[in-house]
Amino acid sequence: MTETRFDALCIGNAICDVFAHVEEDFLLREDLVKGAMRLIDTEEAVRLFDKMGQTVRISGGSAGNTAAGIASLGGKPAYFGKVAEDELGDSYYHDMNGTGVYFNTPRLRDSNPTARSMILITPDGERTMNTYLGACVEFTPSDVDEDVVAASAVTYMEGYLWDPEEAKKAFLKAAEIAHKNGRKVALTLSDSFCVDRYRSEFQSLLNEKVVDLLFANEHELRALYETSDLDTAINAARETGALTALTLGENGAMAFNREETVKVSAQAIDNVVDLTGAGDLFASGFLFGLARDYSLSDATSLGCVCAANVITHVGARPERPLKDVAAQSGFD
Ligand code: ADP
Repeated sequence: MTETRFDALCIGNAICDVFAHVEEDFLLREDLVKGAMRLIDTEEAVRLFDKMGQTVRISGGSAGNTAAGIASLGGKPAYFGKVAEDELGDSYYHDMNGTGVYFNTPRLRDSNPTARSMILITPDGERTMNTYLGACVEFTPSDVDEDVVAASAVTYMEGYLWDPEEAKKAFLKAAEIAHKNGRKVALTLSDSFCVDRYRSEFQSLLNEKVVDLLFANEHELRALYETSDLDTAINAARETGALTALTLGENGAMAFNREETVKVSAQAIDNVVDLTGAGDLFASGFLFGLARDYSLSDATSLGCVCAANVITHVGARPERPLKDVAAQSGFD
């Protein structure tokens, strides 16, 4: 087997979060529904971006957040995602590599700009989101660097990759390379609407052992097996033989396969500020733990520690090194 260079390779939609504080008037002038999330086209993305004034930019996207969390734990993550040759693409490159994530996917040229989620924060703290997918959905099989997949203990991929046909092919190519090299493949279900779109295909990925490790929250797992009863969904997932990491919001998380089940309580927090990124950072802790041969219970606990940390401030990136946060909770 190739030497393990990366604890995890994360693959997903590379989206830059762009935050700006705006007055209520701005929303009225732009005819925006406060608190809503909408998908916008290229023209609207460029127009709104130009009007936003001073912005704070954070390289985001679900798998990107997970990779950044692993780096913050002191691990070695890699990331594949598509950004364009533009200003936001530059900052995405700079941020990811600066955080300690190996990121070298060729950039998109002469096409759509880098994906951005423009988040307008009004004085009352409400967030109005305008998401433009642009370059990120142009990820293709040729972007899958075989050497990096072969050198990663696990390749962790977003369910959202199932939306564009080429990205789906890239997912399957990465999974094949990973298995050929004796590595694991993980899928995160992304959101319950995504599960509704691809339920039977995601089930097949598990049944046919294309995926060894599944990440889901309660809504997503219930959606996968079209049931309102969580235990029914858990039993169905267990039957596949995959290892499932299931987050349970304020009730913590579980991990289970056919042989073993562990349940861990959430960390007690009295100041939940912003739930964005909880699931992504749970995955950081869990993947890091598995790569470092932690017990299933310890990996799940570390996931909860990382998730709890990210929800005590705005945004999906750790504000202080997760390595220190983990050490404070007894992980070294
Ligand atoms: P997602 O962000 O994908 O919807 P969850 O809501 O299940 O996922 O949250 C992921 C993890 O975040 C949980 O497993 C838990 O560790 C942590 N978490 C979520 N809400 C709370 C909370 N109120 N208090 C403490 N930890 C929480």
